[in-house]
Amino acid sequence: MKTIIVTGGAGFIGSALVRFLIKETDYVVVNVDKLTYAGNLESLLDISNNSRYHFEQIDICDKVKIKNLFKNYKPNAIMHLAAESHVDRSIDEPSDFLSTNVIGTYTLLEEARSYWNNLNGANKNNFRFLHVSTDEVYGSLGPDGYFSESTAYKPNSPYSASKASSDHFVRAWYHTFGLPTVITNCSNNYGPYQFPEKLMPVVILNALNGKNIPVYGQGKNIRDWLFVEDHVKALLTVLEKGQLGETYVIGGHNEKNNLEVVETICQIMDEIIPNPKIKNYSDLITFVKDRPGHDMRYAIDPEKIQKKLGWFPQVTFKEGIYKTVKWYLNNQEWCNNILSGKYKLERLGLGE
Ligand code: NAD
Repeated sequence: MKTIIVTGGAGFIGSALVRFLIKETDYVVVNVDKLTYAGNLESLLDISNNSRYHFEQIDICDKVKIKNLFKNYKPNAIMHLAAESHVDRSIDEPSDFLSTNVIGTYTLLEEARSYWNNLNGANKNNFRFLHVSTDEVYGSLGPDGYFSESTAYKPNSPYSASKASSDHFVRAWYHTFGLPTVITNCSNNYGPYQFPEKLMPVVILNALNGKNIPVYGQGKNIRDWLFVEDHVKALLTVLEKGQLGETYVIGGHNEKNNLEVVETICQIMDEIIPNPKIKNYSDLITFVKDRPGHDMRYAIDPEKIQKKLGWFPQVTFKEGIYKTVKWYLNNQEWCNNILSGKYKLERLGLGE
């Protein structure tokens, strides 16, 4: 049985990946997570008793603990998702983004290299370091065109600058040291278990509580939305079939502006959880001050991963957004446990 270390496995995408690996594959999974505000072991209750699942509460910047992790588990691969991931928080407090996204990635690369250098034969040849990144590293598009693997890096936010930096380190460790790396850059994910600071859960939970639904600026910023379970399948496809040293951009051709996303959620909630005190949930939409430096449009051309690796998204936006709204409505305890902590759906990222 092969062992995969998943960093950030208690986060939104990481937990979807861990659940998928345990339920749908034979891999042994070691979830390595610091459990920051965004890490939540309640997202893993489904699988946490499985004998193939292990959890290690470790900061990826901790060189000694990461060294011991490789020594103890002897992994065949590492899927690196741990990161500070929220653009708004990167505007208010960029330093954690530098330490986790840049130094943390560097620490993992160095310890993976030292471990890999001592492997032999098939274990050495088949070892993989998959670095999970974002399309935000490419900056903002005008009304036309798509990001592809050859798009130049142009990060605009502290978050995307830190992710761009980590991508460059991974690339350098392949070219300089031969570490067998692969990079993915994915568009905006949505789905169950997303921390309620991101657009979709913010909208659902504010609407549910009859509170104003904040929309940044005019709501015209466009993102290319991908259901998280499709992303997870793409990650495993790249891990198993991707070419070493290469990048794969991942997206589902689902461009929507923020206002369209918010209005769709409101319509679904009007249908499945009508509130007699509110005529239409969309009446709660309130335009608020825009995010500083807010990128206008992201869109992915996923031709390479589709043609070369045969990955295609399986969940349409309509299905995915229904599933997502229903999940939040049916899992209010998960949300309330988070919202009983420090974060209470307040506005972040004004950089003031
Ligand atoms: P998330 O914020 O939900 O989860 C991040 C996880 O990393 C948390 O469990 C947190 O505890 C953990 N973590 C943070 N700092 C750590 C540290 N120093 N050591 C160990 N663990 C630490 O993030 P997400 O949305 O699940 O994103 C996962 C990855 O995917 C990130 O690398 C992100 O850049 C990338 N990505 C996200 C999206 C998206 O739309 N969410 C899109 C493309 C790429």
